[in-house]
Amino acid sequence: STCCHCVNFCGINVKTQDGVLRVIYPDEDRAAVFNHGICPKGASGVFNTYNPYRLKVPLKRTNPHKGIDVDPQWVEISWEEALNTIAERLKKIRAEDPRKLVWHHGHGKYLIQDKFPKAFCKAFGTPNVVHRTTTCEAARHVADELTWGYHEILPDVEHCNLLVMFGVNPFEAEQWARWLDHAITDARERGMKLVVVDPRMSHIAAKADQWIPVRPGKDVVLVLALARRLIETGRIDRDFLLHYTNAPQLVGEDGHILKGKDGQPLVWDAKSQSARPYGEGVEPALEGSYQVDGKAARTAFQVFKDSLKEITPSYAEEVTGVPAAQIAALADEMGEAAKIGATVVMDGKRLRYRPVAVHTFRGMAAKEFGVQNWRSGLILQMLLGDIGAVGGLVLHHPMKHPDYLEPSKCEYPPKRVDLQTSVYFPHATHNVCQQVALTILDPEAYGLEYRPEMQIIYATNRPFSTSDARRQFEGYAKTFNVVIDIVMTETAHMADIVLPDLTYLEAWQFSPTRWTPGTRHTAIRQPMTNAYNIPLDAWGIIWELAKRVGIRDAYAENINKKFKLKKHTFKKGRDYTSREAVQIIWEEKTKKPFSYALEHAFVGKQLSVEERYLHHTPEDTFRGPGKPKMKLYADQLLGSFEKVSETVKKYGIENIDLERYRIALSPLPTKDHAFPTPHREAKDYPFYLM
Ligand code: SF4
Repeated sequence: STCCHCVNFCGINVKTQDGVLRVIYPDEDRAAVFNHGICPKGASGVFNTYNPYRLKVPLKRTNPHKGIDVDPQWVEISWEEALNTIAERLKKIRAEDPRKLVWHHGHGKYLIQDKFPKAFCKAFGTPNVVHRTTTCEAARHVADELTWGYHEILPDVEHCNLLVMFGVNPFEAEQWARWLDHAITDARERGMKLVVVDPRMSHIAAKADQWIPVRPGKDVVLVLALARRLIETGRIDRDFLLHYTNAPQLVGEDGHILKGKDGQPLVWDAKSQSARPYGEGVEPALEGSYQVDGKAARTAFQVFKDSLKEITPSYAEEVTGVPAAQIAALADEMGEAAKIGATVVMDGKRLRYRPVAVHTFRGMAAKEFGVQNWRSGLILQMLLGDIGAVGGLVLHHPMKHPDYLEPSKCEYPPKRVDLQTSVYFPHATHNVCQQVALTILDPEAYGLEYRPEMQIIYATNRPFSTSDARRQFEGYAKTFNVVIDIVMTETAHMADIVLPDLTYLEAWQFSPTRWTPGTRHTAIRQPMTNAYNIPLDAWGIIWELAKRVGIRDAYAENINKKFKLKKHTFKKGRDYTSREAVQIIWEEKTKKPFSYALEHAFVGKQLSVEERYLHHTPEDTFRGPGKPKMKLYADQLLGSFEKVSETVKKYGIENIDLERYRIALSPLPTKDHAFPTPHREAKDYPFYLM
């Protein structure tokens, strides 16, 4: 089966005896594509399933008052009563205004795949499906999306010689941890050098060649100082900057990129000494200031270089706490390790070879201006040219979403209760779960045209994983709530009806999996017991509700669309069990019989050199004339800021601080991004207690 005690989805073998779970081992076969072991948390899944405090029957609140200190006065009810009560509520809301339903999941996304609740909500008519990424790494994803059109990155550890990790700790916990931990250990044995930048002496810092304790929140200044040193010493990959990124594009005095008549960005053609789109035969200049139609323009690279004037070595030392000499030495080492200009032949193909990579997860990103913090890390790697190169940073499906490189529409009034992609969160490509409670408490303040009435909360305990728990609880007090979970969480305490769920060791699930630079795989989970004889899991609950609300066929149709099912599909006019659902998706996605899934739980493959380095990579996506370019200079943010300003003026919006938005929506990371609000407010404190 496949573990789901966190989001690594490790392969597991579970030993049972007389229908009782005894012990969980790593699935040794899965080592070929992902995990070589499992962690203590994964091994403890048995206790989770046999937890005596599991919810076992549906519960109904009888006390109309809701609060964290209020006794809900639960009574046990039948599944029939619970499902009918919920369905009646849903029908009423759907008839009035389906947007008044909000569906939440956190870990639930990984248990049953969010495509199912999304399909349900689509059929129901609400846009409000809210996941939890914004409490974790979303800012890093947004930085990636703004820069190269999608998210998910990994260092090519197998071929890397110098790995610099910023606040990422796969030896404790992290997405991809169970691949990264052994991949890094193998690489260290091969001789890869590991540098860890982290305020805290983490487990991985303890195992590193070098630990650089940076002052919390100041990473961006450290990275900009490294960038300045690389440029000053000439250790930059000019070819990469010119042909894969928008570094040579011309920026006008207003900060926008100059465009030709056809809307194409202009570069300075060194051959014709004129501003032209980067087409065949054009030789773009990387640096310099030019006159275009009588107006001054600089290349984006020049704008970036000029912006680094304020990041002097002494300033960087003062802000980050890292000695200037150490910053210079690290930059020099990275520049050398990048082997700029080198190639390597693999499987008969000549490939760019830059065996240095910078990686982060929450470390640089989970803070105010986190997007700009990680943008600086990506720009640093554009300078080194390691993005998409052998031994460098691997991008997963670049330009999957070209729209991420455009300014936001900044919609107002907002469509969604979490205000995603509205004028409030213009580039929130991930749901803004923290915001839901705040909007529910005062919809008019955000221009929301409806008042949410019902929340279904599946396997997430949001007040305990977001800021301002008190407001989150107050938000729950305003609506009719259904919680689906395995135990009575604090969120469940605020429910009107609580439904028990099966654990990942008891349910059929089509499991998400993690890719690696060299592998892909598809996996399932299958039930090994049912400790408390619970008749339905969350998947079955959604199906039952769809049926009782009268949207079953529309739900089935939307499942087919979300999973892109063509040959094996959900048919109208009939019910499915969760096992049948897993079988349909498995057979469609793998083209293998379900019996294979029952025996192995996964199917995987090793990527060829072509697939790994040349196909859907920066090579075929960005390189050369006429292709989109990675955004060293994220000009779309400037467009978004102008749109925010216009919208604020047009609608007289009072709860947007334009100055903060101006800083956040800067086309380049700057020192301002090292001073988020708590730092500014606590500037007189001599130390941080963490
Ligand atoms: S790291 Fe793997 S074994 Fe550990 S909890 Fe996560 S998925 Fe399970």
